[in-house]
Amino acid sequence: MTEIAFIGLGNMGGPMAKNLLKAGHRVAGFDVDPAALARHRAGGGSLAESAARAVAGAEIVFSMLPAGSHVRDLYLGAGGVIAATRGRDVLLIDGSTIDVATARDVAAAAREAGLAMLDAPVSGGVGGAVAGTLTFMVGGDDAAFARARPILAAMGRNIVHAGAAGAGQAAKICNNMILGVSMLAVCEAFVLADRLGLSREKLFEVSSTASGQCWSLTSYCPVPGPVPGAPSNRDYAPGFATALMLKDLRLAQMAAVDAGAKTPLGAEAAVLYGEISEAGLALKDFSVAFRWLSDRSAAAPGDEPL
Ligand code: NAD
Repeated sequence: MTEIAFIGLGNMGGPMAKNLLKAGHRVAGFDVDPAALARHRAGGGSLAESAARAVAGAEIVFSMLPAGSHVRDLYLGAGGVIAATRGRDVLLIDGSTIDVATARDVAAAAREAGLAMLDAPVSGGVGGAVAGTLTFMVGGDDAAFARARPILAAMGRNIVHAGAAGAGQAAKICNNMILGVSMLAVCEAFVLADRLGLSREKLFEVSSTASGQCWSLTSYCPVPGPVPGAPSNRDYAPGFATALMLKDLRLAQMAAVDAGAKTPLGAEAAVLYGEISEAGLALKDFSVAFRWLSDRSAAAPGDEPL
């Protein structure tokens, strides 16, 4: 049994904290949203009045917050987690998806305060958080990773040590850049097939076993029909929301600019997912790009849709 402080009990953090409780740990929760706190208490967790109070007796601090600015404030702010735990034998783990630069800055500040810290963003969505089957991509040193592993195993199934501080965030945004770009490629192929009079089923039959094969096609097909469990069969209810894909693509672009990496397709994917969000589809699954592209194709001047 480990004393854990859990900060950020939202759509992901709430069920993750519940899985820590189920595994027999004591979890002191803090969130700025009273409804999230109430759910944590109902699940058997204890409540803290502030982040500093939550971490007071903790051996491990886990945070699951919306963005880098929240993580900076929580750890580096006056009365923040690093000030409250300085010099103690506490392991800090941030599971939020944030920019690589912030993850590295916060880890460096923790190190200076004599604290171990890991970035450990996840994939697997709310379904994975509830089921305890998340993938963790972890950045930090070997000893901190070994210490975190049994705690992460209570919330996830696939736990990968990606490298030094920031490597977890790097792995997450690189993977999601592949996903965002490959999904758009699959969507465009189906839009073109429609307009050429090639049946969607035939394109799926060919490409799912040919060189166009990829996860976006065979596990998450953006047109209704070929993959029954895909969000395209339920009016694009997420799944993985367009807004979250846009967030990750923008994080990838920030990192690419900082690192001097040329990622033109990632950049274009970020632009397109921005337009899809602005079209009112931010809360739909990101595979809704097919419907959006299809509608735009049908509306091309002088063109009749097939
Ligand atoms: P969410 O908005 O549901 O939860 C965030 C929680 O943090 C909220 O309850 C909010 O009240 C709380 N919070 C904000 N500022 C706080 C502060 N200063 N102190 C304490 N609590 C604070 O978001 P989510 O869907 O749970 O996502 C959390 C993180 O996980 C994000 O970084 C997101 O990108 C990432 N993520 C989400 C998904 C997903 O499918 N939802 C999948 C993978 C990764």
